[in-house]
Amino acid sequence: MGKSSKDKRDAYYRLAKEQNWRARSAFKLIQIDEQFDLFSYQEPHKCTRVVDLCAAPGSWSQVLSRVLIKGESFGRRAWMEKMQKLADEVRIADQIDEGGETSEEMGRLNLQEEKPQLQPRPNVKIVAIDLQPMAPLEGIIQLQADITHPSTVGRMLSALNPTKSEADFELVDLVISDGAPDVTGLHDLDIHIQSQLLYSALTLAIRVLRPGGKFVAKIFRGKDVDLIYAQLKLLFRRVHIAKPRSSRASSIEAFVVCEDYTPIEGWTPDLGRPVNVPRPASAMTEEEIEALPEQMRVVREDGTVELSFPRREARTLHKDNRWIAPFLACGDLDAYDADATYRLPEGHVSLDPVQPPTAPPYKEAIERRRTEGGMYGKTKNVGGHSSQA
Ligand code: SAM
Repeated sequence: MGKSSKDKRDAYYRLAKEQNWRARSAFKLIQIDEQFDLFSYQEPHKCTRVVDLCAAPGSWSQVLSRVLIKGESFGRRAWMEKMQKLADEVRIADQIDEGGETSEEMGRLNLQEEKPQLQPRPNVKIVAIDLQPMAPLEGIIQLQADITHPSTVGRMLSALNPTKSEADFELVDLVISDGAPDVTGLHDLDIHIQSQLLYSALTLAIRVLRPGGKFVAKIFRGKDVDLIYAQLKLLFRRVHIAKPRSSRASSIEAFVVCEDYTPIEGWTPDLGRPVNVPRPASAMTEEEIEALPEQMRVVREDGTVELSFPRREARTLHKDNRWIAPFLACGDLDAYDADATYRLPEGHVSLDPVQPPTAPPYKEAIERRRTEGGMYGKTKNVGGHSSQA
């Protein structure tokens, strides 16, 4: 598909280039913020330390940088301004109808005064992690790491607090994860791998989130997704499923938005023992079993004990204890529809992507084709048949 044709079919692809975002995903985060006030505009000190998992090419980090470091406002703040403007327009119209004194100009003046100034936040720390290298972004600490690998925990902790001892560790306010595997096309496998990324992101989040903190992660809505919702609900007081308007309706992608983190005392998960995989008691020492928080003991029918994700009921979803997360579509109703094709404005010039991938998996193939010719190499004629060299 040509650039121009893609511009037509994907309004967010076009907008991302026009607004200087590295990926159209930026709009997903902005629209989630619109609904959930992720960045705490009213109390900015409550959102200054953030971890962005699976961050490349970096559009979510760009949003973080522009909101927290530069003090710009998107999402919630922009939405509030718009509502304010509408309310003011209605108020002015009412007053004019009633022969009141307020003139339209006065209303405009008020609005001018209410326009927010740039409000950079103090002590911002943003750590972005991805398997892929990411072009540098001002103010963002970047780690190239696998979020499923146990060594990533230590690297993330020292990126967050390079000089401080563990006792002084400053926790973070928000962890976001847009992790997605390279899709294989095998539906169940893709959903499974994606859920493993989510569990890894959750494990990392639990290591660094402050009580009351927020966690947002991409999720593929497969058939057993209720189990994940119920598990998240054990750790966060509020869990919603958000579907931003910029995410195609035809896609099974959505985002879990978990608010008000409530840690489980005595439980520190690590990536070597993923939160979703039960461990048989036979693999634990007596002391470990004794030290287990009550919620994590699963006693099987044969009397054996397993360490599992908090609370048995989260693993055995019966009708009575099944928990269905509320689903919220977010993004302005007049925002572009991700599934629609739009006519391009007259004289439209298709722009190049803001940030081409730094190390795309296809780079080697292109390189080899350039140097060796043919598909990957020159075609030889062997016994009348063609074969790749
Ligand atoms: N949020 C990003 C943005 O706004 O630019 C887009 C993220 S992209 C949809 C998904 C990312 O997940 C890819 O960059 C991929 O490298 C990353 N990813 C997949 N598996 C990963 C893993 N195990 N560890 C770290 N990153 C991973």
